Amino acid sequence: MTNILVYALHHEGAVNKNALGAISAAAKAAGELGGEAHALFVGEDVADDVAGSVGSYGATKVFRAKAPAGLAQPIVDALDAVLSQGDYGYVLFGGGLLGFEAGAAIAARRGGGIGVEITGIRVEGGELVAERPILGDTQISDITFRGLGVIASRLNAFEPVQSGSPVAVEDIDVTLSDASAKVEIVTRGEQRGADVNIEDAQVLVTGGRGLGSAENFSVAEDLASAFGGTAAVAATRAAVDAGWFPYAGQIGQTGKTVAPKLYLGLGVSGAIQHKVGMQSADNIVAINKDGNAPIFEFADLGVVGDLHAIAPALAEAIKAKKG
Ligand SMILES: Cc1cc2nc3c(=O)[nH]c(=O)nc-3n(C[C@H](O)[C@H](O)[C@H](O)COP(=O)(O)OP(=O)(O)OC[C@H]3O[C@@H](n4cnc5c(N)ncnc54)[C@H](O)[C@@H]3O)c2cc1C
Repeated sequence: MTNILVYALHHEGAVNKNALGAISAAAKAAGELGGEAHALFVGEDVADDVAGSVGSYGATKVFRAKAPAGLAQPIVDALDAVLSQGDYGYVLFGGGLLGFEAGAAIAARRGGGIGVEITGIRVEGGELVAERPILGDTQISDITFRGLGVIASRLNAFEPVQSGSPVAVEDIDVTLSDASAKVEIVTRGEQRGADVNIEDAQVLVTGGRGLGSAENFSVAEDLASAFGGTAAVAATRAAVDAGWFPYAGQIGQTGKTVAPKLYLGLGVSGAIQHKVGMQSADNIVAINKDGNAPIFEFADLGVVGDLHAIAPALAEAIKAKKG
């Protein structure tokens, strides 16, 4: 029997959506492996009903470790304690950097292997296969594991699916390692751009990798403010992954789906994963220096040229027209 242990990220009494997705995916995969999906909460005061609620997403056992929340080292100590007690083949983390950090550490501690940026899992030949995009996300590679398989997924890789019902919570004793005691969270804040709202915008100026840097997003911002009203700035995943723009503004398969009156792409190639999030826009305008960019195949208006010359000129023209 091979069970899957999922780390259940939580904050202020709510279980993170990515963690719920990971539990759902684990429950499905564990069922096919002939095992179970279990969840682990780490925190000083995780309520029974919060922890137990993940039973409704397929976890058949829920463990709770009393230790500082949100830090990788205590999570590793708690995972280690649970893994030592049961028959686990895999550990799964929903999206987020904490999973990459804690995942690498628990894989190293238990002599296992880790796959990061995973976008899907499936069961094949009695084992779990993790799917990992490679080569600029143009191909998917399959990862299998020797020993413990640790899977740290991308944000939104797994959708929460309700199945089952709340379960009882089992408290576990964890001996914190020296490293765990040396770190504390001093302050906690909202991710930059948590207030970005692209779904309601009538005009969306979308920055892609072609913008070249985080600073150059000012080109997109200037253009959006020239439109005024409900214009907003959004981004492709390439720009978000580069750290140029907050995830809250990402359009596409692993971001948001939008349908503005006008979508204006600056240095956006028009990859299929981006297209699925914006193809319902009433009007699609693209500025790209490559005349063969895929976005020109579905744009209503295409401008071939350097966005750094065209976008500021367009902003000026709009301002002049508005007077
Ligand atoms: C499972 C999976 C999920 C994904 N989910 C998403 C998602 O949700 N959203 C998303 O966007 N992508 C997603 N991707 C990634 C997607 O495949 C593309 O890699 C991404 O959309 C490319 O972003 P981009 O157009 O900014 O960059 P690129 O493809 O690198 O394109 C940059 C463009 O800028 C142009 N350019 C460069 N300089 C200039 C200039 N000075 N002036 C004008 N044009 C210029 C170039 O000609 C090029 O066409 C996903 C991929 C996978 C595998």
